[in-house]
Amino acid sequence: MPDQSDSQWDTQREELLEAAKLMLSRGLVTGTAGNVSVRLSESSDWADPEKPAFLVTPGSVSYETMTREDLVVVNGEIEPLGGEQIPSTESLLHHAIYRARPDVESVMHSHSLFATVAAVTGRPIPPIVDELAIYVGGSVDVADYGEPATDELAEAGVAALGQKGACLLRHHGMCAVGTSAARALEICTLVERVAQIYFYAALADEIHLLPADVIERERAIYRLRSGFEV
Ligand SMILES: [Zn+2]
Repeated sequence: MPDQSDSQWDTQREELLEAAKLMLSRGLVTGTAGNVSVRLSESSDWADPEKPAFLVTPGSVSYETMTREDLVVVNGEIEPLGGEQIPSTESLLHHAIYRARPDVESVMHSHSLFATVAAVTGRPIPPIVDELAIYVGGSVDVADYGEPATDELAEAGVAALGQKGACLLRHHGMCAVGTSAARALEICTLVERVAQIYFYAALADEIHLLPADVIERERAIYRLRSGFEV
């Protein structure tokens, strides 16, 4: 069984820890909420219980004091492979996304304020800013409700995410994916910013979508970058 202190995942631990601490300092989460992970192997190899599947932040550990050693290597059954911490309770969501999206190398789940307002209203965040269409692939859609840390939440999240870069978890928060933890963090940050713009624009009673032909061109950029039909 791989040793949790094994230095082979040093780079991934460093990358994940930095993204987790930035998630906190950017106000995307408070306390010990939210979680981040990076993939360590292809999902097709996850039947082997000794094979590391992904590296994830631990449950109930402050981001301020979190160290590289607190991050948990889990197998395809989300069982820790060594170490003393337990994996985040939302690891089911990360697991389901890695299974559904072989292109995804990192998953970030945050509770940022305006994205959660959208998640509570059940209203998708429409493409009102160019970057959203380019980096997310269009609107940020809202998942059906699932209780925290359940398969229902994981399945609803996967369905709402589809082939896009982010989705909202109803009555809960947001989830973003990327080719690295740094990229997933940037998507979370972007979605929060656009959600904020959306609600301020709604207060002014002036919501206008980008012109349809522009959205289509920008979605084409997303398709080109990701290889996905959205
Ligand atoms: Zn959460």
